[in-house]
Amino acid sequence: MTAIKEPSFRESVDLMFNRAAALMDLPPGLEEKIRVCNATYTVRFGVRLRGQIHTFTGYRSVHSEHMEPVKGGIRYAMAVNQDEVEALAALMTYKCALVEAPFGGSKGGLRIDPRKYEEHELEQITRRFAYELAKRDLINPSQNVPAPDMGTGEREMAWMADQYARMNTTDINARACVTGKPLNAGGISGRVEATGRGIQYALREFFRHPEDVKKAGMSGSLDGKRVIVQGLGNVGYHAAKFLSEEDGSLVVGIIERDGAIYNPEGIDVEAVHQWIVKHGGVNGYPDATHTAEGTAVLEEDCDILIPAALEGVINLSNAERIKAPLIIEAANGPVTAGADEVLRKKGTVIIPDMYANAGGVTVSYFEWVKNLSHIRFGRMQRRQEEARHELIVKELERLDRYLGDAWSMSPDFKAKYLKGADELELVRSGLDDTMRIAYQAMSEVWHDRDDVDDLRTAAYIVSIDRVAKSYRAKGL
Ligand code: NAD
Repeated sequence: MTAIKEPSFRESVDLMFNRAAALMDLPPGLEEKIRVCNATYTVRFGVRLRGQIHTFTGYRSVHSEHMEPVKGGIRYAMAVNQDEVEALAALMTYKCALVEAPFGGSKGGLRIDPRKYEEHELEQITRRFAYELAKRDLINPSQNVPAPDMGTGEREMAWMADQYARMNTTDINARACVTGKPLNAGGISGRVEATGRGIQYALREFFRHPEDVKKAGMSGSLDGKRVIVQGLGNVGYHAAKFLSEEDGSLVVGIIERDGAIYNPEGIDVEAVHQWIVKHGGVNGYPDATHTAEGTAVLEEDCDILIPAALEGVINLSNAERIKAPLIIEAANGPVTAGADEVLRKKGTVIIPDMYANAGGVTVSYFEWVKNLSHIRFGRMQRRQEEARHELIVKELERLDRYLGDAWSMSPDFKAKYLKGADELELVRSGLDDTMRIAYQAMSEVWHDRDDVDDLRTAAYIVSIDRVAKSYRAKGL
């Protein structure tokens, strides 16, 4: 079969932007100013490894500086290129605006297969890349704040933060130069799980809107819904784990690099995760059927499809055969502009990437604030909160004694009520609030405007409007 020519990832993002911008009343010129990517820096640097110099190519793209710092992850993958980083940087601009994180959009990438290097080699490469970026203020607490993305995690962020601190020894805010750091290096509780947790909160909010659920031809709650997830990495693993363990959803399919596993009775996500850690893939996992042609499982029957790996996986070659009535884009750009049109016509509801996976940047925002304020969330008020709660509990206990058998406190009320919120609870509460409010803003446009028939266009309208207002306020 000959491949169908589709626009590139960046062109796809631009097409989706244009669709929304056409429905808006933006002053001439401003639309283009918002859409275009401000700058992309390409760096080639050498690192001496295994007795010879290896040259690496990296990028950091700044899409919009209507707010600073600009924010966005750094990806390590062989497919990294300028078009991809620019598309991802643009998505960051819209994402931050949608969830009201006060940042412009940026993204970075290094063309590398991290699995081919030892840890100490990766550290050398990462430090050198961070040096090149920091030298040009492309890592800087007030200018540009990276975070993890595909192929990177806490470890890489800790190396980058340390590299920046070595280069800026008197910068009191050095730790705020990247987010997604380990807890002991200035990170925040709940950042690792944040994007997956955000997917769960997004779906919960969707299912709180029965009229939206109905648009997808579904009813009820997340309980019992059959889920297929592609990519059991940071985002996919946490999303699938929380949905199955806390919301009663049934994960029936998992697609990975080495094929897919399927079991209509449900798959134990944690067990598969452990299997992947041990064996490097899903192949051989005992309690499900393995298919070598993994992407075909995207087309299996299910209620919710969660692409959480790569861009462009749902495209013109398979869109027509996608059966899921609801797709939540955990990855960035998993549905191409062409496929988006096909699915819209079919009535598939798509919860778009710029909203769905915004949990990561939201908690990164909390981490950045924590670093700038140099204090852990909850440290000042937690015990005071507990003391005040204790006053009420004491009064209730007095009542309890006084009323005898007529009334008594529920057994676990006291313990639950007395406990002040720790950092993790505060982070989850802030994330939940963010995901709910952003969904409502998006869904309101979807419902109120006759010319908007999908959540993605609604999300773009909300975001573009906010970015435009911010440019206008600056006098541009
Ligand atoms: P990750 O590297 O932790 O996980 C990616 C997973 O996808 C891995 O398990 C990998 O084996 C799998 N994978 C790779 N190629 C595949 C293929 N061809 N078929 C099936 N599976 C494949 O990355 P991540 O951080 O989970 O990011 C995944 C997506 O989520 C990316 O699009 C990223 O931009 C997006 N995202 C991540 C974050 C974050 O906080 N990490 C935030 C927002 C968006």
